[in-house]
Amino acid sequence: MNHVLVVEDSPIIIKILKKLISDIGGFKPFYATSLAEATAMIDQSSQKFFAAIVDLNLPDAPSGEVVEYVLANDIPTIVLTGSYDEKKRESFFSAGIVDYVVKESRFSYEYAIQLVHRLEKNQSINVLVVEDSLSSRNFIRKLLEKHLFNVYEAENGVEAVEMLTSNPDIHLMITDYNMPEMDGFELITHIRRKMDKSSLIIIGLSSEGDAHLSAKFIKNGANDFLKKPFIHEEFHCRINHNIEEMELLNQVKDIANKDYLTGLYNRRHFYTQSEKIIAQYQGSATPISACLIDIDHFKRVNDTYGHDIGDLALLHVANILKEKFESFYPARFGGEEFAVLFPRLDAEKAAQLVDHVRQMLEGSPIEVGEEDVFLTFSAGIALFKNDMDETLKEADERLYRAKEAGRNIVIYDD
Ligand code: GH3
Ligand code: MG
Ligand code: MG
Ligand code: MG
Repeated sequence: MNHVLVVEDSPIIIKILKKLISDIGGFKPFYATSLAEATAMIDQSSQKFFAAIVDLNLPDAPSGEVVEYVLANDIPTIVLTGSYDEKKRESFFSAGIVDYVVKESRFSYEYAIQLVHRLEKNQSINVLVVEDSLSSRNFIRKLLEKHLFNVYEAENGVEAVEMLTSNPDIHLMITDYNMPEMDGFELITHIRRKMDKSSLIIIGLSSEGDAHLSAKFIKNGANDFLKKPFIHEEFHCRINHNIEEMELLNQVKDIANKDYLTGLYNRRHFYTQSEKIIAQYQGSATPISACLIDIDHFKRVNDTYGHDIGDLALLHVANILKEKFESFYPARFGGEEFAVLFPRLDAEKAAQLVDHVRQMLEGSPIEVGEEDVFLTFSAGIALFKNDMDETLKEADERLYRAKEAGRNIVIYDD
């Protein structure tokens, strides 16, 4: 868990923060009530502070001296203050703080705490900045890095397309309009054929002179736009707002597509995914196989150890499938039945992989108290020919034969 330094002298505010942090959780707070205490904590702490939430007005540092010290130690700093001072605010932003939050309501404290969580998540978000002007690119990079994003850069649309192709885990792109080789609109139109708004957020940069540009960005497929020149706060509010929207959208998608217990995709999504993969290989000689897996005598697990342990056993099997078939498409089909789609593998090759996992499961029991509970599964595999339902029916017949033959077996032919 990350360590977060909270510098605050007011006992009432500390109480509020303590309550909120324990409610929201996620990081370990360390409280200092003066500059001297904060300095000592930073100097003596064995683990580097991930972030700091600091009050500007402290008994031994009445005008924000603490900010300087925290920033000098490379700690992302959120100012939480009772006073709003435009000039000070600007100077703190220039010095490199993450945000300036005025203590107005319970929401302000919550905002500051959520911001720490935002920073934690940002560390794994990759952002591509597409901008031909070096100074502007650097400026945006700095703003993003202040919020701990991983930043990639491209000088024009062509470079951006290459970058996105070789880094599919980029989920946010900020692009200028006017660039050599390929401009911002062409770039967006091109990218949107492959990536929708929930897998890549696109924010267009428009300059002040052209009022049409902003609307055109949105009409061409951007999620949002920013008018140059923009200030720190505006930039981050827009970025955060769009990322939160994408996360919510993906959460909704996950609820619809994933199985609640195991986190594996569900049956419906398995069919959707299969259709896409089949279409992708249509006309080529590339084989695709499908496998049905059913846990053996699972009812006994429930009957002997109870439903909760049954759930744990399902999770155990699901995790093995998730890990071992990471590059394929495993799903929970229902109950104690799973399916896996194997593009580029014929039934025999798929069976080799499945049998390997069968052996693995056989040798990795779950612990129930003092007891080791061993699980096995049976599987049927079929090569896709024309229709997924037919393929699964064939796999199911083989699965049935595997059960008949004594279970803990993989069958892939007649
Ligand atoms: P076989 O080897 O023939 O497959 O026997 P089995 O006992 O595994 O098969 P059966 O279909 O008779 O029983 C499956 C059991 O799986 C019955 C059901 O209560 C249990 N089950 C299905 N979904 C869940 C679940 O989400 N959690 C738990 N704990 N049990 C589940
Ligand atoms: Mg104070
Ligand atoms: Mg079953
Ligand atoms: Mg079963």
